[in-house]
Amino acid sequence: MLGALRSPAGRTAILTSQVSCRRLLQTSTGGDWQLQTAVAFDIDGVLVKGKQALDAGRRALSILSGNNAHGKRIPFVLLTNGGGVSEAAKAQDISQRLGTPISASQIVLAHSPMQSLARQYGSQHVLVVGGIKNRCAEIARTYGFTNVSTPNDLVAWRPSMWPFMRPPPLDHLSQAPGRDFSEHPFAAVMVFHDSFDFGRDLQVVTDVLRSENATVGRPFVGRQTAPLFMSNEDLVFSNEYPRPRFGQGAYHVCLRAMWQALNAGTGMPELEYSLFGKPHAVQYRYAEGLLDQIAANVGGPAVDVAEMRRGRRIYAIGDNPAADIKGANAAGWTSVLVRTGVFNGPPGSNDASNPAAVVVDHVEDAVNWIVDTEARRLAETQSLH
Ligand SMILES: [Mg+2]
Repeated sequence: MLGALRSPAGRTAILTSQVSCRRLLQTSTGGDWQLQTAVAFDIDGVLVKGKQALDAGRRALSILSGNNAHGKRIPFVLLTNGGGVSEAAKAQDISQRLGTPISASQIVLAHSPMQSLARQYGSQHVLVVGGIKNRCAEIARTYGFTNVSTPNDLVAWRPSMWPFMRPPPLDHLSQAPGRDFSEHPFAAVMVFHDSFDFGRDLQVVTDVLRSENATVGRPFVGRQTAPLFMSNEDLVFSNEYPRPRFGQGAYHVCLRAMWQALNAGTGMPELEYSLFGKPHAVQYRYAEGLLDQIAANVGGPAVDVAEMRRGRRIYAIGDNPAADIKGANAAGWTSVLVRTGVFNGPPGSNDASNPAAVVVDHVEDAVNWIVDTEARRLAETQSLH
């Protein structure tokens, strides 16, 4: 899976990971745990709350780094439905906030696996939606997309397309100004991150998807004219505000509703789109690929990755039953639900729709439970021999 990483930043990150993993091996008191066990943390509502890092999160990462009763290190990745930044920037931010070195190759953002789409669309004209200014367009370029436009570009080209805002200043643009979009069809639309302007992005995306030849300004036709890919269907997420906030899934709901309303009575089928992000399997396969690479780096050439995968136990710690727990259960991982984010059921309760294997108060309790469970398993295995 790491071979699919196309960016110079990605390659740098892998090298960084190799160095840190060798250090892991040298300082560990035993390699077995590092090859047989792994943890995937959700970030928001688990390790941090908005801009605030949780103390339990700092301690949890320290415990996995070997500060536990058994002196064992356990590899981990961060598996988040967040995005809108590069994997390297996210790694740097979380490292600083939680006090544990984390490399870009330990980060799975909602849009990380979308780099696989570059195999098909890398040289074609794509619309990238979401995020601040043109940052997602820049990320798309590091993924291998060479011909990217954004809603900002379209509104700057033709301000009447969305008359409820002033055209963005030039530093918001990701393409050279002056491009005539009436002559540039889109091959695909990709929503990388939360829309920062729901109204504009509803208008622009529906324009592209129902215009002849997916070319804005052309007549609307009775079919969807380009494929749509979206990165994160979380309806809500948790930040510093005391109640959950709208996530990218709220934009999906609005887009589907607008599509239905615009095409009412025309016989147009429902909007079709492909989803990335938790709880979808593509995210878990991508994370397993990163964990394979970490294990291979730890164990060296002697490691049989296929064999290691069969025996490996992966624990997923999350706060959102509909995303973290549903996805982990479907992937065959062991799910651990915390009460510091979206889920806030009373002690002793579990989520009714997507029950976790275990529910704990916070992420420090979660990693202590994992370490204890693994220690018990090891003791039982040894007593059999
Ligand atoms: Mg979360």
